[in-house]
Amino acid sequence: MATALAVGTSTTPSVRELLAQGRRSFSFEFFPPRTEAGERTLWDAIRRIEAHRPSFVSVTYGAGGSSRDRTVELTKRIATDTTLRPVAHLTAVGHSVAELRQIIGQYADAGIRDVLALRGDPPGDPKGEWVAHPGGFTHAHELVSLVRGLGGFTVGVAAFPERHPRSASWTEDVRHFAAKCRAGADYALTQMFFHVEHYLRLRDRLAAVGCLTPVIPAIMPATNHRQIRRFAELSDAAFPERLAARLEAAGDDQAEGHRIGVEYATAMAERLLAEGAPGLHYITLNQSTATTEIHQNLGLHD
Ligand code: FAD
Repeated sequence: MATALAVGTSTTPSVRELLAQGRRSFSFEFFPPRTEAGERTLWDAIRRIEAHRPSFVSVTYGAGGSSRDRTVELTKRIATDTTLRPVAHLTAVGHSVAELRQIIGQYADAGIRDVLALRGDPPGDPKGEWVAHPGGFTHAHELVSLVRGLGGFTVGVAAFPERHPRSASWTEDVRHFAAKCRAGADYALTQMFFHVEHYLRLRDRLAAVGCLTPVIPAIMPATNHRQIRRFAELSDAAFPERLAARLEAAGDDQAEGHRIGVEYATAMAERLLAEGAPGLHYITLNQSTATTEIHQNLGLHD
């Protein structure tokens, strides 16, 4: 059933295998586009990124309906039409356990063996009250256990260098993260962040409680001043004042904003790797230019 489909997965090792061999993982994240123009831009980015032979590419999961179907379709298409290994993000939002099983089954049938298991946020207002589906899950560790229990999957989870906004303390945050790892997570990808120290502190906090699951830092190039507010809406990541001031000064000079953002992200990536990070996960926003430039700046491309 999956033989013709598993082009990418058959040749590329899983993140688990890669990290177990002491190698680093370099990956790129996409979201399912809403329009045909967005689709074309995305596929152009995918083809350019494919040439860099990343460890995997991941596809985010939306809040509902058609966006979710697009995630499943895009992930399957990456598996069939490219040499890339796709990782499907999956959240517990609004799903019964039976529905989650069915989605995971669809991936298995398509030869996809990688899931990023997430709790997700309340649809509409991400900071609103979390209400679990009556037949569903409340926390990500339950989804990790489900995917693990179905067998054959490499499972990733989310990590938060500035701690999850709903965690009352660092102690609680680290305890719950460690529970996801005990449930069977092979690795974690971080939320976007802009201060290397935040990643290093999280790494040290996890090591202090004996949690050694590899945590791959996200690299999100900020290439114009308008993005800064959007980032604040998407996450609680602290944005460096100096970087903000440089992007503001660049104004609508796109080339200058791009140069500043790529330079800052490259320096962050270099330092993270020098500190022993097990790889990098580039957030592309479906564009290839900035993230592939950073990757090339690191001298890691083939
Ligand atoms: P959890 O691990 O369940 O944690 C959520 C909160 O609950 C934390 O405060 C945690 O401390 C607490 N908690 C955990 N377990 C317990 C417990 N047993 N008892 C009490 N409290 C507990 N969202 C999407 O909708 N689609 C995506 O594709 C997507 N991709 C993402 C990719 C990455 C790399 C990251 C970092 C986030 C992504 N998100 C995505 C956002 C994510 O779904 C939200 O940040 C969500 O609020 C947390 O998800 P989680 O899997 O970390 O949840």
